[in-house]
Amino acid sequence: MKFSMAKLMGMLYISKYRVYCPVCCTVGVTFNPLPDFYTQNAMRYEYAHFSKRKMTALDTYSCSKCSVSDRERLYAYWLAAAISAEVLSSTANAIHFAPEKKSCRLYPSVKSLSDYQAADLIMEEADYRINPMHLPFADSSYDFFICSHVLEHVPDDRTAYW
Ligand SMILES: [Zn+2]
Repeated sequence: MKFSMAKLMGMLYISKYRVYCPVCCTVGVTFNPLPDFYTQNAMRYEYAHFSKRKMTALDTYSCSKCSVSDRERLYAYWLAAAISAEVLSSTANAIHFAPEKKSCRLYPSVKSLSDYQAADLIMEEADYRINPMHLPFADSSYDFFICSHVLEHVPDDRTAYW
């Protein structure tokens, strides 16, 4: 990679109060905190990693304009940066496992890909309704894939995606 994750995340914050959302392409949005529902459940079920900020940005979770989450903004920004740096071609074919239902096809960077498909076990809007433990694709069928917050829900993650 020609860019680091820390640099990438830093580029999303123009200043403390003027931030850029790479999904709605707006400068000056604010990012809202994670809804209390998630914090309450994390405390209720004693999720040890929650307060360590390893999984999500608690204070800057959703965009005030388009409501997308921090990880969706990261996917959109990473794709745009990868295409801009020619790490990923806009002619690449990509597949996104378990995409966020409402927003995945709205990323400008996804729109710039000539072949983007979504795969999910239950989402009706997905191009493929498949079990990740039984992928129907031949090896090297895709140039790029997004798979985040998925494997922890798969009964046998060693079988999935091999
Ligand atoms: Zn936004």
